[in-house]
Amino acid sequence: MNRYDDMTFRRCGRSGLRLPLISLGLWHNFGDVDPFENAKSMLLHAFDRGITHFDLANNYGPSPGSAETTLGKVLRQDLAAHRDELIISSKAGYLMWPGPYGEWGSRKYLIASADQSLKRLGLEYVDIFYSHRPDPDTPLEETMGALAHLVKSGKALYAGISNYGPDEARQAARLLRDMGTPCLIHQPKYSMFERTIESGLLDVLEEEGIGCIPFSPLAQGMLTNKYLNGIPADSRAGKEHGFLQPDELTEQRLDQIHELNELASGRNQTLARMAVQWVLRLKGVTSALIGASRTAHIDDALAVMSAAPFTDEELARIESILGPEA
Ligand code: NDP
Repeated sequence: MNRYDDMTFRRCGRSGLRLPLISLGLWHNFGDVDPFENAKSMLLHAFDRGITHFDLANNYGPSPGSAETTLGKVLRQDLAAHRDELIISSKAGYLMWPGPYGEWGSRKYLIASADQSLKRLGLEYVDIFYSHRPDPDTPLEETMGALAHLVKSGKALYAGISNYGPDEARQAARLLRDMGTPCLIHQPKYSMFERTIESGLLDVLEEEGIGCIPFSPLAQGMLTNKYLNGIPADSRAGKEHGFLQPDELTEQRLDQIHELNELASGRNQTLARMAVQWVLRLKGVTSALIGASRTAHIDDALAVMSAAPFTDEELARIESILGPEA
């Protein structure tokens, strides 16, 4: 089977780059605390099914940096011949090393961190390099200037931003355009449980011609059937180093999850599949950036490509389950 036969690609904003409908992030389950063979089999399986985009950041692990090392090893061992078929992204913004130059948005930090990421990945360039979060204490010109420098020096092909609000995103887009290195993509948090980007950011991205790749479309696993009957020990909420806190699974959340799960069953799909399909219903969304701890999770997300579109009634039912605070 040709890996490209069944994958849908969407254009990223007004750029020339197309991204797969599903992209795979390496935030959890690819660190040096995780079994390498499982990480490798997820990466190879994803690529075999047409997922050409892997997303990283300097600090993914644990330990910080080890997810980049894992991907670097798989690239060397198995994917070296396919580098030109892959879109690999990394980011800098959160704490990576001690002292004043190890986080946020200075030129010093961003460029040093990009160099470290390239070393861990064993690559000459990444396809996308992001400012991982806005820095209130560094002029935006400096942070965007560092991204533009990385693109102009060939260490990154495109510049991106993550976790920027609508006004910051518009300013960043203008600065990057003026520097001749347009902003390719924005990576915000977006799922049925986190809808802030619907009030403002998506409009800015459309106006500026920037793509959108929402992270955590499954709300870290809450929008699946995983937590319907308690917290499994091997889940993100059950593991010591998982970012999802058990207290996020409130009674109200669990009620919503049960109702959404029923709606998904009525559509003959899993809740995970329905949640991924829901973020992709917006034409401004380029790709859904999922996480996985096993290959079956990747297949579940990929099944959105053959899913029936939502009816107006189903979308209204989702709104009513989520309520006004969603
Ligand atoms: P998701 O919301 O997709 O959550 C992924 C988790 O959900 C998996 O690890 C797994 O949890 C569970 N899961 C996935 N599929 C299924 C399924 N079919 N059935 C049951 N459970 C399932 O995304 P993430 O929170 O992992 O984020 C995705 C990516 O987004 C990250 O890897 C990273 O690249 C990016 N990101 C970016 C951020 C930023 O600031 N820019 C912040 C956070 C993420 P379990 O491990 O418990 O099995």
